[in-house]
Amino acid sequence: MHVTICGGGNASHTLAALLSSHPDLMVRVYAPFEDEAARWRTNLASAPTPAGQGLMAARTRDGTLYGKPHEISAQAEGVIPGAELILLALPAFAHRQVLSDILPYLEPEVLIGALPARGGFDWECDQVFNGRGQGVTYFGLQTLPWACRIERFGTAVTILGTKWEVDVAVWPPGKAVQVAVTLSDLFHLQVKPVSNFLSLTLANPGQIIHPGIMYGLFHHWDGSPYKEAPLFYQNVDQHTARLLGYLSDEVQAICRELQSQLPELDLAAVIPLHEWLRRSYADDLGDDSSIQSCFRSNRSYADLRAPMRAVAGGLAPDYQARYLVEDVPFGLLATRGIAEIAGVETPIIDEVIGWAQYCMGKDYLQAGKLCGRDIAETRAPQRYGIKTIQQLIGGTI
Ligand code: NAD
Repeated sequence: MHVTICGGGNASHTLAALLSSHPDLMVRVYAPFEDEAARWRTNLASAPTPAGQGLMAARTRDGTLYGKPHEISAQAEGVIPGAELILLALPAFAHRQVLSDILPYLEPEVLIGALPARGGFDWECDQVFNGRGQGVTYFGLQTLPWACRIERFGTAVTILGTKWEVDVAVWPPGKAVQVAVTLSDLFHLQVKPVSNFLSLTLANPGQIIHPGIMYGLFHHWDGSPYKEAPLFYQNVDQHTARLLGYLSDEVQAICRELQSQLPELDLAAVIPLHEWLRRSYADDLGDDSSIQSCFRSNRSYADLRAPMRAVAGGLAPDYQARYLVEDVPFGLLATRGIAEIAGVETPIIDEVIGWAQYCMGKDYLQAGKLCGRDIAETRAPQRYGIKTIQQLIGGTI
């Protein structure tokens, strides 16, 4: 199979190393930034590894895999034609640009998906592909299957943990099982099909976890510089854990209301946060008894620190980090927009969005309505002209 991975960061390095270790896959990389593509090629050409020159290493707890992508390019026309599977391993704010860049070179029957999808990936695809009749099958994974960090750019990546099971939504839905089987084989983990993209959008765990923990860590920050970056997950205290639970409860309330209005809508995949943590990190949790203990005792999350930027005298929280600039406009705002359409109040989600938009210098929520000037930059359904529950589900039932 011919696979092209889009992106030049942690997730893309992980996929490039893992997939190119399969002898029967032809793996190419579309790294949209020219400097990243050039650096990746140069470093890889001279990478000395125990397995030989010019290979990428993916280190896991169980050992190291080696592979070599066939080609790395910043030119879509060089690496997209011929691809049967295209994987967007990028932050959601890059999806639209990358989808538009690769569109002219797609094969008619291509399978294309995002890991992770975040919220509203289907609405974005529909707009970029100009409706759904292009022969393209697209999918979104609920989350990235790996916690991973580049160790040496272009040559080595560390996989801190692998999720036990990951959900996938597929358009058209009739291809969901086939796509899930293909991805399970490729990634060596359980990829489970869910009924529709709406459940993937609502079940997106990053929208709760990342802005929720950022809020917990920093909403009382007094402006004094930090000496070192606080641990992100291991610092989840009782207050933050409670907030995360409330955010998850509000998502469940949205699901109940949607199902009361449309009983045949299957939202079973939208599980509460505590259940999701237990399911995703089954082998990694020292203590799974509460949301707080799931974060503090999770081996995949150990030692990961909050995003910070250097300021006079130390460090300050980085409010332009993807935990806010990706997970609020491409996660929490999609869910908040669904709540508005369903007529569900979400005071805790609103509190977190209100704080985050202030920190990011954005304007999304005004007097309880999604009508701020920056809505057009988000994946809130309102941005796509979606106003009804029928439009939200996009013909899946
Ligand atoms: P990253 O920051 O390492 O990589 C981002 C890459 O995306 C860049 O290197 C660049 O190649 C590309 N990119 C960024 N902005 C772009 C733009 N405007 N146009 C085109 N390309 C652009 O990110 P990552 O860690 O690889 O994460 C990828 C996705 O996976 C994100 O959605 C992230 O939230 C998610 N995720 C990552 C992890 C992890 O452990 N790394 C865990 C869970 C989820």
